[in-house]
Amino acid sequence: MVSITPEVIRDNILRTRERIAEAALRSGRTADDVALLGVSKFQPIESLYAAVENGVTMLGESRVQEAEEKLRLWQKEKPLWHMVGHLQRNKARKAVALFDCVQSVDNAELAAAIERALAEAPDKCPFPVFIEVNTSGELTKMGIHPDEIQDLFDKIMRCYNLIEIDGLMTIGPLEGGESAVRASFVMLRELRESLRKSTGLPLEHLSMGMSGDYEWAIEEGSTLVRVGTGIFGARSI
Ligand SMILES: *Cc1c(COP(=O)(O)O)cnc(C)c1O
Repeated sequence: MVSITPEVIRDNILRTRERIAEAALRSGRTADDVALLGVSKFQPIESLYAAVENGVTMLGESRVQEAEEKLRLWQKEKPLWHMVGHLQRNKARKAVALFDCVQSVDNAELAAAIERALAEAPDKCPFPVFIEVNTSGELTKMGIHPDEIQDLFDKIMRCYNLIEIDGLMTIGPLEGGESAVRASFVMLRELRESLRKSTGLPLEHLSMGMSGDYEWAIEEGSTLVRVGTGIFGARSI
């Protein structure tokens, strides 16, 4: 297992926050306009503690089982937990119990499963979700196709009232370099604009940007960056 000290994590967070603030200024905003989610998947719990002690208030995990184990061991004040990975329908109930937000809703069946779980978890309602969009066209990516997103919004808003759609999430393309990555972020921003008009929802969050591309994402309007290795170092898997 890769080990990284709390001091290194603290320095990584400071440097990340500086870079977030500078990118926010370049987009006519301030650091307060961009939330930092520490993506802690495959990291040991000591690293998560170090992040929380250094002011990280939101952590992201990509697997229900791993989040469940970490929460069972958790001894400190709880951050907000976001699910950022692919969620299977049969884990919706656990996800609702463990997480404060699911960023990876990309189909109506999953939304339905979350809604059913929420019917038995009134203290979790309304439950924030983001709709994950495949803005890159890469086949390996999860996320709904942009052409189908209006229908998904219509369905969720018509049928499911315990879920609250708070924003959109995307993963930038791995191929194509800066111009392709920025194009993907611009697409998410423009989708939010058109969905705001068509649905009347505020859609507060544009969750885009990871360790390798969060400055571009902020310049293109990101309100929430998901930084894993940039804070915690290389993952142990
Ligand atoms: C792993 C992961 C991240 C963090 O990736 P890094 O490149 O380590 O910053 C962000 N978002 C999602 C959806 C992830 O799965």
